[in-house]
Amino acid sequence: MSRILVIAECHHDHLTEGTRKALACAAALDPGGADLAVLGSAAEAAAEEGRRIAGVARVRLGPQAGFDPPLATVWAPVLARLAADYEAVLMPASSLGRDVMPRLAALVSGVMITEVAEVIDPRTFRRFIYAGNVRLTVRARPEAGRLVLTVRLASWPAAGERAGEAAPVVRDVPDPVGDPGTRYIGLEEHTSERPDLQSAKRVVSGGRALGSAENFALLEGLARRLGAALGASRAAVDAGYAPNDLQVGQTGKIIAPDLYIAVGISGAIQHVTGIKDARVIAAINKDPEAPIFKIADVGLVGDLFTIVPALEKALERAGVGS
Ligand SMILES: Cc1cc2nc3c(=O)[nH]c(=O)nc-3n(C[C@H](O)[C@H](O)[C@H](O)COP(=O)(O)OP(=O)(O)OC[C@H]3O[C@@H](n4cnc5c(N)ncnc54)[C@H](O)[C@@H]3O)c2cc1C
Repeated sequence: MSRILVIAECHHDHLTEGTRKALACAAALDPGGADLAVLGSAAEAAAEEGRRIAGVARVRLGPQAGFDPPLATVWAPVLARLAADYEAVLMPASSLGRDVMPRLAALVSGVMITEVAEVIDPRTFRRFIYAGNVRLTVRARPEAGRLVLTVRLASWPAAGERAGEAAPVVRDVPDPVGDPGTRYIGLEEHTSERPDLQSAKRVVSGGRALGSAENFALLEGLARRLGAALGASRAAVDAGYAPNDLQVGQTGKIIAPDLYIAVGISGAIQHVTGIKDARVIAAINKDPEAPIFKIADVGLVGDLFTIVPALEKALERAGVGS
């Protein structure tokens, strides 16, 4: 039996990328494999996906009714019953994970460590504080109890497919219990043709320099050619050029794409905090002294209104995207 339990998160019948990242963190904790608990109406489909992921020892499946939409007040008491079998319980540090896991930690009197970026040993972890500027090493005392961990999304690769046979599925997650005391009112979801910013491999991000929402749309063509998500600086969001959920940085999303293209973004520390795990950073800025060039791997000095359409044309000529 595995010592580690990962709580799955589903979106439109699929496991989230964050779930796979939590599984990668679990593999660093115990290469022997982790159990994966899947709750909610998407559980059947997601369990099928989960049992084919490397490092999954068993999938624990629950009743499909009662867990949707996911409320921490419903999930945590059920997970507390499952947690009794494990030394550590992990979940992605997503909105749901941040909501569920502190409750779970309280219910099991566990040791909560948030945003785990690295596993040093089974009780010692690295995590960041002060907007990523200070790295902490934290150790949970052996006698302190069960570990309840959230996994920093920008720090882990997604666990891939397994080579051998699919993992077994057991249907033993109990029903939700009692009155949760909270009521679900509704969800307003921003939909976009572009990939999800948090998990995209490429991101084209715009800053204040775009000057208007109409001009911000200029980035869509480039993003489409590259199959990239759109992002924005806080200045662009505050000015209403881009929706709030596109904000990258300390008070926005922390992302780790393979390629990040910063267009008309100065490179303030609060913005850079959100992209320092990006593999390649390219910057377009008309000011050669802009701080973004200090961290950029590739820099283009010039007017974005000339460079972006030229880049798009060059990609078209090269037959990249459509
Ligand atoms: C507590 C706190 C939290 C914050 N959190 C965040 C956060 O999460 N994310 C975030 O982004 N910011 C955050 N900020 C704000 C941050 O400090 C900056 O103000 C913001 O990032 C600046 O956005 P910007 O680079 O788009 O704008 P600016 O700093 O105004 O930069 C615009 C850049 O565009 C260039 N430019 C202008 N015209 C052109 C052109 N035609 N072609 C090419 N380049 C051009 C300029 O040279 C300049 O470098 C936070 C601030 C605080 C205090």
